[in-house]
Amino acid sequence: MQTKAYAAQSASTPFGPHTIDRRAPGPKDVSLDILFCGVCHSDLHTARGDWPGTQYPCVPGHEIVGRVTAVGKEVSRFKPGQIVGVGCMVDSCRTCAQCKDGLEQYCDGPVGFTGTYNGPVGGGPNTYGGYSASITVDEHFVLNISHAEKDLPGVGPLLCAGITTWSPLRHWGAGPGKKVGIVGIGGLGHMGVKLSHALGAHTVAFTTSPNKVAEIKVLGADEVVISRDDEQMKKHLGSFDMILDTVAASHNLDAFTALLKRDGTLVLVGAPPTPHPSPAVFPLVFKRRGIAGSLIGGIPETQEMLDFCAKHGITSDIEMIRMQDIDKAYDRMLKSDVKYRFVIDMASLK
Ligand code: NAP
Ligand code: ZN
Ligand code: ZN
Repeated sequence: MQTKAYAAQSASTPFGPHTIDRRAPGPKDVSLDILFCGVCHSDLHTARGDWPGTQYPCVPGHEIVGRVTAVGKEVSRFKPGQIVGVGCMVDSCRTCAQCKDGLEQYCDGPVGFTGTYNGPVGGGPNTYGGYSASITVDEHFVLNISHAEKDLPGVGPLLCAGITTWSPLRHWGAGPGKKVGIVGIGGLGHMGVKLSHALGAHTVAFTTSPNKVAEIKVLGADEVVISRDDEQMKKHLGSFDMILDTVAASHNLDAFTALLKRDGTLVLVGAPPTPHPSPAVFPLVFKRRGIAGSLIGGIPETQEMLDFCAKHGITSDIEMIRMQDIDKAYDRMLKSDVKYRFVIDMASLK
């Protein structure tokens, strides 16, 4: 099926119209017309070659909300007309221990999981993501959406920004009685604030943007700290159970490890193109503090997060853009100038 898309042809060329081929639905596949697609900083890292391994043409987009147009014979959970989501993965081996645990993002299969775009990780043909009119995906990787139709533009970002913050918040036990920090209030960070607050944790946001402070409180932060202000930072020394770092650029981690309690954990989800400076050892060993990482989230926990968000009326705060404005959106994202997620209205592609 010839499908309209927007692609980067190299790391340094602007996006432009491109035609891709989508497979007709096989027995277990779901085909959907894409209504909205969120713009993740990972799209930018990939399209502009910040990370190694980008295959061109590159069609990013893994925060997809669409309407089902056709389903294969064996598909039982979805039917044409239904609103569904597709996130960061479109396949995995399904047989390894990670897949059996519903943590497909950590798949031990020969190529790991297959990314929605630029997949499979580890080689093979390129996959094309949500900057396109339609997509066909195995039903295992299709999510049910129960938000109201009017909320759909703000649901797309839950498929990456939402699950990437939800999974570590749940794993490290964010909830009542816990003090949780969220560093970098962009697409991921603003969802981290909303979800940590909704889970009942005392939530502290760390930002480098003084102009965001008032709004971040409205998102649900109990406190907002300007992370470049040493006096503000000092007040929180040794007090956090967990700090989730979503920053897309290399920065000093010691400023945050010092804020953890004994046994507290700094969880890295931001994936900057260049490494963070090596963290100091003493602040870690003297309080048995840890530094960990976390990758997106599995399909069952993504569904759990979507259902939680629908029940609690949670969506992403978005700025809608046209497909044609994607390069401008990337340039603004690099300046932390987005509140808090760009979402492409795919009607602009027609
Ligand atoms: P984003 O919307 O651009 O937000 C990043 C935020 O980090 C900015 O809004 C800014 O917040 C802060 N920031 C940016 N540059 C900074 C700097 N030089 N120093 C300190 N703070 C800075 O990006 P995103 O879409 O949330 O993605 C964030 C990162 O997570 C990216 O690297 C992305 O690739 C990665 N990611 C990882 C996973 C995973 O599975 N681990 C999944 C998705 C994305 P303030 O203005 O508040 O300071
Ligand atoms: Zn993403
Ligand atoms: Zn697997």
